[in-house]
Amino acid sequence: MATPILSETESQLVPSKSAAKYVYFFGGGKADGNGKMKDELGGKGAGLAEMTNAGLPVPPGFTIQTEACREYMRHGGVSEEVNRQMEEALAHLEELQKQKLGKGDNPLLVSVRSGAKFSMPGMMDTILNLGLNDQSVQALARRSNNPRFAADSYRRLIQMFGNVVLEIPKSAFDEVFDAKKKHKKAKLDTDLDAKALKEVIEEYKKVVKKHVKRDFPQDPHEQLVMARDAVFRSWQNERAKHYRRINNIDDMLGTAVNVQAMVFGNLGETSGTGVGFTRNPATGVKEFYGEFLMNAQGEDVVAGIRTPVHISELEKIMPQVYQQLHEITTRLEQHYRDLQDFEFTIQDGKLYMLQTRNGKRTGRAAVRVAIQMVDEGLITKDEAIFRVEPNQLYDFLVPRLDEKKTKVEVLATGLPASPGAAVGQIVFTADEAVEKAGHAAKKNPVILVRAETTPEDIHGMVVAAGILTSRGGMTSHAAVVTRGMGKCCVAGAGDIHVDEKRREMQVKGQVFRQGDWISLDGTTGRVIKGKLDTLEASPDDPELQTIMGWAEPFRKLKVRANADIPRDAIQARAFGAEGIGLCRTEHMFFAEDRIPHMRAMILANNEKDRRAALKKLLPMQRSDFIGVFKAMDGLPVTIRTLDPPLHEFLPRREDLMVEIAVLEATKPKSSKLKELRPLLRRVEELHEFNPMLGHRGCRLGITYPEITEMQARAIFEAAVAVAKDGVKVHPEVMIPLTATLKEMANQAGVVNRVAQEVFKEKGMTVPYMVGTMIELPRAALVAGEIAQEAQFFSFGTNDLTQTTFGFSRDDVNKVLPTYLAEGILKQDPFAVLDREGVGQLIKMATERGRKTRADLKVGICGEHGGEPSSVEFCHQTGLNYVSCSPFRVLTARLAAAQAAATDKLKVEGGRTK
Ligand code: ADP
Ligand code: MG
Ligand code: MG
Repeated sequence: MATPILSETESQLVPSKSAAKYVYFFGGGKADGNGKMKDELGGKGAGLAEMTNAGLPVPPGFTIQTEACREYMRHGGVSEEVNRQMEEALAHLEELQKQKLGKGDNPLLVSVRSGAKFSMPGMMDTILNLGLNDQSVQALARRSNNPRFAADSYRRLIQMFGNVVLEIPKSAFDEVFDAKKKHKKAKLDTDLDAKALKEVIEEYKKVVKKHVKRDFPQDPHEQLVMARDAVFRSWQNERAKHYRRINNIDDMLGTAVNVQAMVFGNLGETSGTGVGFTRNPATGVKEFYGEFLMNAQGEDVVAGIRTPVHISELEKIMPQVYQQLHEITTRLEQHYRDLQDFEFTIQDGKLYMLQTRNGKRTGRAAVRVAIQMVDEGLITKDEAIFRVEPNQLYDFLVPRLDEKKTKVEVLATGLPASPGAAVGQIVFTADEAVEKAGHAAKKNPVILVRAETTPEDIHGMVVAAGILTSRGGMTSHAAVVTRGMGKCCVAGAGDIHVDEKRREMQVKGQVFRQGDWISLDGTTGRVIKGKLDTLEASPDDPELQTIMGWAEPFRKLKVRANADIPRDAIQARAFGAEGIGLCRTEHMFFAEDRIPHMRAMILANNEKDRRAALKKLLPMQRSDFIGVFKAMDGLPVTIRTLDPPLHEFLPRREDLMVEIAVLEATKPKSSKLKELRPLLRRVEELHEFNPMLGHRGCRLGITYPEITEMQARAIFEAAVAVAKDGVKVHPEVMIPLTATLKEMANQAGVVNRVAQEVFKEKGMTVPYMVGTMIELPRAALVAGEIAQEAQFFSFGTNDLTQTTFGFSRDDVNKVLPTYLAEGILKQDPFAVLDREGVGQLIKMATERGRKTRADLKVGICGEHGGEPSSVEFCHQTGLNYVSCSPFRVLTARLAAAQAAATDKLKVEGGRTK
């Protein structure tokens, strides 16, 4: 036995139920399992069982259940009982088929397919044609009367088995194959004849021998055992682990293995294979949607070697098969009550179903399909609200391609790395992007096309309308950066060859050069030839409103937005924000006309000078607040007093030193030097070794109370001014980074005093509150005390995560990849709220705060406020609101509604995975 894959402690976490039944048979019209048994059989196995039970034409076979995989993880191998049951099922299959695995005149061949509870593209590739060897390949050739087909099937087996089971690099086989094609002057794979393929087989065998020091296994049973174990091992490969991590799938589930009799779509012109959806997964339109290839085997359709044909063609070629397929898949959809994604193969005019599952779809399609299915009486409105993933609503907030007017030619499909649409002219370098993108009236959309982007490309990415890369995944530089920018990106479009030297992009035998137009769909990952029109974002889409109208009555949490300026506030309100949960005042100080006053304030070495500088800032700040209050008429606005360390407003120390040194050398008499020297001195005074834990937050307002005074005055003068115009204002002044009651009392004292002064001066009062941000573990611990002075809490979960873990958010990426890969952390705690640690502090602080002040208003602001699982946690913890960036408001609203509906309807997140 090999070494166990799991450590001892991990093994103990795996439930060790003694599973008497490891292997489930399907075939001959009935199955041991059924569609509900996804835990045991995986999605694929459960679907095959369910279809068999429904009397559909499914090639027979058996599923080795997930417990065997967990056993493999625990012990590095499966028990004798698993082997025994597998041989028994195989014997049953041989009897049913009247064939023997890899033996006799009519050898049985099987596919070995992985299949976990949730569909996982990171796992093992399917092995087809297993059972072929030097003898059975000849039998297959005789029986099919097609020696080329037999040889092709065998070489595919050696290649797939060699790569997936024996872990020989794909390229080792590709080299042999490409060399043969070149030698025979063959353009397509299909141009190689039986003789050439036989030569390939002999060379493939040598490749195997060379890499693994053994021969390609000729014994079909040995092939089967090896393939099965490779599937089990693939559960633990890096790709699969990574996929589980980003999709929040439990590492302990394990995968099932499906062994299924082969059917051949490559037997000639009355055979074929294809895939389809019962409705259009991109738009949700109710139309039979799919692609197929005649005379082809499984993977040919997706591999892109030949271009598949639209499913409607099948109606012309084989009307009966088409009818049958249409009927079957319609039945499947009715049965599962969800859009189905299916695979089929036609062997000699006879249809076989190979897979069905709930299909993945875009956000727009999810909304449309859910509404259609309610109209059709297939599902209830309560179920419909769970048919849309909250994150998918982003699709409604970004532009998309208008595909009605022009014929769409898809050049390649990559990863939908950052949603939206972009249309522009190709450029190949960041510098070209800047040059061609132009400015203002001469603005010209460009698409930056690169093999991969690096931090050196940022300036080009900023000006480009969209980004296309041929390499890299969902977490590649291009993907991460564009998502941050809210810019459309298709990443890892592997079919595209980018030749940066020649400034060319080659795909589908076509060459594209700088200046050629292409269109990107970042929502589906498609790269489209030419210049399509785009359609604007549509947050007021009627179908979206319908779904939200069903979901919203459940929602208990309020949803606010983080917005610093009126434009963002207006946007957030349009997306349904019910207030502003975080308005950061410092962002107002970075503006060009203000930074000099801000610097003067910081450079002042006495209170008088500081007050003079603050006086200049007061009217500017007041007018900012007037704009925000007007935009949020009738809704609460939480304004945070100055938070970042002061040095952030000054030039960098190194830059100043260089500038001074240069001036001293070149223009020693320059008056600029007189300005710069004191600036440098002040920068050095303000220098901190650990600014995140330094002179910031309420510590600023306590050491320089006149800053808080000015800000409070600006807030209340603005509030009174708009109130006089009839605007309903509810300012909530928020003190950042408090750790003690006395800090809170100090700052609340300043704010309340200024409020009274302003109300008296203006002869008018407005309702307001003073509260605090809870960002330090100490604040959470003494929340009961702090609530004596604070009328509300807002958990600043970015800082609270930093201070609870002691991780700096800006530096955590040195550690995080290892932590995630090792499973030390399941997720990035800055993206998904850490319920056990940070969550516990939130819970405790909320309880303690409310004990002191029963009506304490509690919310969170920070990245987590728009992340569905964190929103769910906030609902469960009884918070009053979450606050997130405007573009996450819709997502947060639906997530909050789903969390509440889950409680109320006692469903377990009836979501489709
Ligand atoms: P994936 O999960 O990657 O789709 P599958 O196990 O579904 O992998 O199989 C890959 C391809 O092989 C599919 O096109 C499938 O239809 C085809 N295939 C799998 N098993 C068989 C079989 N027994 N006979 C014919 N084709 C098969
Ligand atoms: Mg499949
Ligand atoms: Mg903070």
